[in-house]
Amino acid sequence: MTAKNMEDLVSLCKRRGFIFQSNDVYGGMKGLYDFGPMGVELKMNLKNSWWRSIVYERDDIEGLDSTILTSPTVLKYSGHEDTFSDPLVDCKQCKSRWRADQLDNNQCPSCSSNDLTEPRPFNLMFKTAIGPVDDGSSFAYLRPETAQQIFVNFKNIIDSTSRTPPFGIAQIGKSFRNEITPRNFIFRVREFEQMELEFFVKPGSDEDWHKYWVDQRLKWWSEQGVSSDKLKLLEVEKEELSHYSKATFDIMYEFPHGLEELEGVANRTDFDLGSHTKNQEDYEIKAKVTPNNSSTTKLAIQDLESKKWYIPFVIEPSAGVERGVLAILNEAYTQEEENNRTVLKLKSHLSPIKAAVIPLKRNNSDLVNLANKIKSELQSLGLGRVMIENSGNIGKNYRRHDEIGTPMCITIDFETLENQSVTVRDRDTMKQDRVDLSNISTYYSNYFKKN
Ligand code: ATP
Repeated sequence: MTAKNMEDLVSLCKRRGFIFQSNDVYGGMKGLYDFGPMGVELKMNLKNSWWRSIVYERDDIEGLDSTILTSPTVLKYSGHEDTFSDPLVDCKQCKSRWRADQLDNNQCPSCSSNDLTEPRPFNLMFKTAIGPVDDGSSFAYLRPETAQQIFVNFKNIIDSTSRTPPFGIAQIGKSFRNEITPRNFIFRVREFEQMELEFFVKPGSDEDWHKYWVDQRLKWWSEQGVSSDKLKLLEVEKEELSHYSKATFDIMYEFPHGLEELEGVANRTDFDLGSHTKNQEDYEIKAKVTPNNSSTTKLAIQDLESKKWYIPFVIEPSAGVERGVLAILNEAYTQEEENNRTVLKLKSHLSPIKAAVIPLKRNNSDLVNLANKIKSELQSLGLGRVMIENSGNIGKNYRRHDEIGTPMCITIDFETLENQSVTVRDRDTMKQDRVDLSNISTYYSNYFKKN
């Protein structure tokens, strides 16, 4: 089951501490959101799951954490200064501004007028001054994608790790886009995180690798609890492709507001490494080298057998963390009329809280001490956050933990003091088990092995 509409999710996220409007006390800022106590855990768990599957569970991918502030030269040669724009129109009637390609019947969504200006390109990159004097002479961009810093670190990484294609470089981090119309909660925002992999391959093998990565990514999303029947693969039309792409498959998801892109998997060819490479004559290759490029680095590979230099092609699966969180919340959201409850049926590896330990009476020091001991024992197993719930009202605690998706609640009652056993309540079935204290760690870890 999924949420009926976006309002259900927005309201749950605020009520239970997942996501808040940013700068809320001063009226909020459009297109910016903060992740609260539950949101930060969910987001981190999603990113860790990506990193585990992309870096740890394979042996052909290295990680990177590069700066957000990016030299304008990098974004000049990557093509972003010239082409990273959306078509902007102004409504002459009500003075509002819109993205031309998102309008129905060329009509202003605010006042329905058709009296709009001609579309003009609006560059989506944020600029900021570098150094103490803001006279425009020294500036940087906030990166619009994490990918460019992977390309300009290509040589550092192959020199320090001796990698040869096929291999990849992965990065998770913030990206910034000055979207004309941020909307649909955290779907389209101005500051977001991306999980990006640049996978370098020999030219000629790129199309097979492209298919391989599309399959891998679809599989990964379903392991995060996104149902396959809500995912659709869409090949981007040639005329809609980004400037660097030979072919792109968008992984689309049925969000509460409609079918939209969750992740893009692009074949970026040798465009980026070629553009950042100087002295074309150094190579026995014809790369797309921009004339007068001031980079002094060879972003190429020498084939060990033929000794010829070539620029690898790159396949890029690029997923948005916020869009992932939104899809996962939507999938997990379940309204159970028969039990009069809302429950987030999250995959247990994504749950913000893995277990809540609840002393039945908050003022009873025997119960509270035992709860603290169990919390420490389970916390030390390193599976994620375990918390003490010491507010006293057991019914309220169960309701809260159902809504934040905690897989199990462990209640310490007076029987515990007598027979050293606790009640464990399962989130999905609401079934209660009596478990011996001596067995609680094993019970807990077995649950996470199975679910
Ligand atoms: P869209 O067409 O929806 O604007 P895009 O094609 O420009 O997206 P890419 O450049 O392919 O997006 O970026 C890769 C991923 O980064 C997207 O699939 C999406 O998950 C995420 N992303 C891009 N822009 C935003 C945004 N403004 N807010 C949230 N996530 C975003």
